[in-house]
Amino acid sequence: MPTNPVMITRARAQAQTPAWQQAWSGALRDPQQLLHRLGLDPALAAGATEAHGLFRLRVPESYLARMRPGDPRDPLLLQVLPQAAEALEQPGFVSDPVDDAAAMAAPGLLHKYRGRVLLIATGACAIHCRYCFRREFPYGGAGALHDWEPALDYIRGQRDVTEVILSGGDPLALGDHRLAELLQRLERIPHLRRLRIHTRLPVVLPERVDDGLLSWLGHGRLQQVLVLHANHPREFDPPADLALARLRASGVTLLNQSVLLAGVNDDLETLCALQERAFAAGILPYYLHLLDRVRGAAHFEVPESRARQLHAGLASRLPGYLVPRLVREVPGAAGKVPLGP
Ligand SMILES: *Cc1c(COP(=O)(O)O)cnc(C)c1O
Ligand code: SF4
Repeated sequence: MPTNPVMITRARAQAQTPAWQQAWSGALRDPQQLLHRLGLDPALAAGATEAHGLFRLRVPESYLARMRPGDPRDPLLLQVLPQAAEALEQPGFVSDPVDDAAAMAAPGLLHKYRGRVLLIATGACAIHCRYCFRREFPYGGAGALHDWEPALDYIRGQRDVTEVILSGGDPLALGDHRLAELLQRLERIPHLRRLRIHTRLPVVLPERVDDGLLSWLGHGRLQQVLVLHANHPREFDPPADLALARLRASGVTLLNQSVLLAGVNDDLETLCALQERAFAAGILPYYLHLLDRVRGAAHFEVPESRARQLHAGLASRLPGYLVPRLVREVPGAAGKVPLGP
């Protein structure tokens, strides 16, 4: 028991910090330490230092717990471990492959497609995915993310916009107080019907799905859709299942999108297992994305012909509702571009 006032204050402050925020700040940031914890050769991180400087390692403990110790090819590890290959310049791999800069309608707000806008609610993430197409996004310069008013004002003036997508970064990296307030402000815009949240947190940091989150998620006037981002069946474990069950009970529609990644999920067995495993957790597939050609991620690219072949394989093995749409983002297109059969 704390006995002096300072200790009591500290204990109280800790009690007020949600457990997920503590878990988040306890995430691993050091490649050497990550390899050590997995019983792997520290030399694997030898070339990582340079790549690391561009986009820092970040892995929550709960995600690390799902990696296979002693396996340098572990598909979860490969998603987060900085590789020397990231520092190689590759033709066609650029800083902003999807031309977000051209679609910025207000600070932090992208308007590319009819009827829906995307709000970059925060630049923060609980995990740093090496293939992320926003790994070089100028979050800081992208505007006063602390002030949503200009973005909300833009939405108010666009009467054909019915859906707001919260993205980032990871929007659930924000605290519940701010998110609940944002939701309230969006609800007051009469032409909005839906709120969509794109997040990786329920799988990579299942602690995030707590009473605080469920005090606003699934409530209110807007229909809510949560698009999860999981790439591999082993990203689902009992804590993630529990988090997803709670989300399902809140009434939000759950979908999953994945990125096709060389060495991680570019084989038919894994892709089938991913859809099956996600559905077992109550989630329907949405998109299977071809990699956006962001600088530093070339080693994750799967050739388009192989992607089509895998997609045809999925369609021949799974019920139609478990087959994600294979898409790529093309700057200037009216939506994500499907790759037909
Ligand atoms: C991907 C994306 C969307 C969502 O597209 P859907 O096909 O509706 O999932 C919306 N806005 C922007 C800017 C996007 O990049
Ligand atoms: S935005 Fe998504 S894909 Fe990119 S690092 Fe964050 S969680 Fe990973």
